[in-house]
Amino acid sequence: MLCVGETVIVEKAHASILLEEFKESHCHHCLHWTPGPVPCHKCSQVGFCSTQCRDEAWDSYHQYECGLTDFLCRTTRDVNTGQHGLLALRTVLKADRRLIIIANEQEKSPESYASQVFDSANYDTVHRLVDNSSQRSTTDIFRRAVMAVYLTSLIQIRDGKDRPDEVLATAVLRLLQSYPCNAHEISHMAIPVPSGFCSQSKSLQLQQIQSCEIGSAAFPVVSLMNHSCNPNVVHLCYGDVMVVKVIHRIARGEEILDNYGYHYATHEKRERQLKLCQQYYFRCRCQSCVEDWPLYRDTPKLTSRPDIADRITKDINNFKKLSCCYPEGSSQLEEAARLFIGHLDAMESDPSINLPVQEYNKAQEGLKLCLALLATLSPHLVF
Ligand SMILES: [Zn+2]
Ligand SMILES: [Zn+2]
Ligand SMILES: [Zn+2]
Repeated sequence: MLCVGETVIVEKAHASILLEEFKESHCHHCLHWTPGPVPCHKCSQVGFCSTQCRDEAWDSYHQYECGLTDFLCRTTRDVNTGQHGLLALRTVLKADRRLIIIANEQEKSPESYASQVFDSANYDTVHRLVDNSSQRSTTDIFRRAVMAVYLTSLIQIRDGKDRPDEVLATAVLRLLQSYPCNAHEISHMAIPVPSGFCSQSKSLQLQQIQSCEIGSAAFPVVSLMNHSCNPNVVHLCYGDVMVVKVIHRIARGEEILDNYGYHYATHEKRERQLKLCQQYYFRCRCQSCVEDWPLYRDTPKLTSRPDIADRITKDINNFKKLSCCYPEGSSQLEEAARLFIGHLDAMESDPSINLPVQEYNKAQEGLKLCLALLATLSPHLVF
């Protein structure tokens, strides 16, 4: 049994990219906030939190991208590959060429994985992520093939080669198909006011803090989780490390289920089914879809246990009023998370309570917000 609040996955990104607008405040390599970035030896387009990150980035991929970073960001935006184009290119630049050749040539059967350790750092694990190639139209694949050749050419031409590298272009094409279904957004909780909050005397209402996307990354292990419109885990970003925590008790043998962006309480079933089919090519048959659970506003209230309902309402109201002082705010958030975990446990332990009920959603959303704030709240991340 996995209890609410437990950690089930900790995974470092196989590859990650930082959005251009955060290049002066965050490390290009590990995506952590940094007050005085260490520059690259050769270009002024990237900054790092430490010489260690600078050297790791150089050895891994920046030696190929150096001087081209701004151009690549602009170009991938202009040709509409967005972050996935840049992430695909970086993944391939980081990889050992021999492993790319092997992966391009060998289509392993699922059985061959049974004896392997699934290692995020191994290029093969990224290459084998589902790309839904057989379900894509010829036009779609042709468009992605042109992008793959173009992106690869940018690096090749800079190096004085007159034609794109077929091995790299083939690998980029595969990732351009798989990343729309597998890449993860890296988000931090951000503060809307750029000044004042750094002072320890200032405080901030929690409601002012919002989620802010700073980059994207490939996490091959996290990508293995299937979707549910009523997930039992949530993922949190610590720089380029993703942590997956339980938000609904998981019994032995039960599947760990992620949410791909469409929750039953906030999106109509018809919209969820349509979006999941368009982007991920599957038809969701989770409990909330099969039983057609209502949106949050139409979800019944917890009338059978007024004692629990009252405590949740009180704790939610206190949570909303919370002023978060940095760094002291973390103890208030930890206490709030502990209360929400207790409420979720109490409701899951009571066989008379059947989901969905509004109070369960409230406690779960409160817990998710606490965990996200504890993971990433920084007084320096502003928008
Ligand atoms: Zn760093
Ligand atoms: Zn450089
Ligand atoms: Zn569903």
